Amino acid sequence: MRRFFQDVPEDLWRDYHWQIQNRIKTIHELTRYIKLLPEEEEGIRRTQGLYPMAITPYYLSLIDPHDPQDPIRLQAIPRAIETDPYVQSYGEEDALREEGQIPHMTHRYPDRVLVRVTTFCAVYCRHCMRKRIFSQGERSITKEEIDTIIQYIEAHPSVRDVLLSGGDPLSLSYEKLEYILSRLRRIPHVEIIRIGTRLPVLAPQRFFDEKLLKLLERYSPIWINTHFNHPKEITPYAAEAVENLLRHGIPVNNQTVLLKGVNDDPQVMLELMRSLLRIKVKPQYLFHCDPIKGAIHFRTSLEKGLEIMDFLRGKISGMGIPTYAVDLPGGKGKVPLLPSYLVRKEGNRYTFRSFTGELVEYEIEEL
Ligand SMILES: *Cc1c(COP(=O)(O)O)cnc(C)c1O
Repeated sequence: MRRFFQDVPEDLWRDYHWQIQNRIKTIHELTRYIKLLPEEEEGIRRTQGLYPMAITPYYLSLIDPHDPQDPIRLQAIPRAIETDPYVQSYGEEDALREEGQIPHMTHRYPDRVLVRVTTFCAVYCRHCMRKRIFSQGERSITKEEIDTIIQYIEAHPSVRDVLLSGGDPLSLSYEKLEYILSRLRRIPHVEIIRIGTRLPVLAPQRFFDEKLLKLLERYSPIWINTHFNHPKEITPYAAEAVENLLRHGIPVNNQTVLLKGVNDDPQVMLELMRSLLRIKVKPQYLFHCDPIKGAIHFRTSLEKGLEIMDFLRGKISGMGIPTYAVDLPGGKGKVPLLPSYLVRKEGNRYTFRSFTGELVEYEIEEL
């Protein structure tokens, strides 16, 4: 089933560090596996130093080399359009105003803070909402920086939920990760820790490591937020990674981003949500694509998202239906969106639209 790298023994293939050490970062390496399109060759050249490329052998092996619009390919291989003057002139580097007074931390909602602990990722997704940090090189937060953030959280008892993000927090060394988790756990008002990681998708081998799983289990309750965007990403390796996390008491939720050409299709999205439930991952959010400089070519209309949400209803359990959300510009936060099911209201007579499209009248009174 492995498309490329057939000569790599399974024990190496299952080794996360091998996957990271053998990431594909140059045109020269990539053309050994895939015949590149002119806009890809140009894209890789033009994005050097700005939005670099890195692809794990595992993620690369999911690409069908004969399909120029392969959804994995679109997410992983740069295209010239990323540096197109129009794409560059629209959108902002930090459209959601994440950067604030304390470096690497965003405190938007009273009860939650988001902490960016590294700029490193296994794969640099072309649609990344944090493309602005790609050019900073691969660097993780220093002890002094994390200590400042810890002090801030200690001084803010309203913070019950710390969301570690990046880059990919689970790319940190055990020592650094343990330092961060143990410091957070010593703060009495921090109830839950969430880790935003795309490693279940990009290098699920990370979760074949009992030592890492035990570390996460020790600092329970920890929740994982991951980022599957297409049913092709749900492989036996990804399923094994999720199973291992669940065995260690770590629930896994998914945040999909609606991306043009990748998953802006109701049937693809339905298949993705069904596949997630099969591997016991709860679809949490479907995000509308943010206006991020260098990534706006992935944006669809809002109506496309609503059409997909409408399509899902009735075809999959409510458990498999994510919340469609838009992150408002200027750091104003996320808002959920739903197609309208309440069509009319006259006094206490309501008219609803059912999942089959039938109009149903319903009198609802409070007794
Ligand atoms: C999205 C986000 C969160 C988490 O929001 P949830 O709805 O709880 O997942 C927290 N802080 C910031 C700055 C965010 O953008």
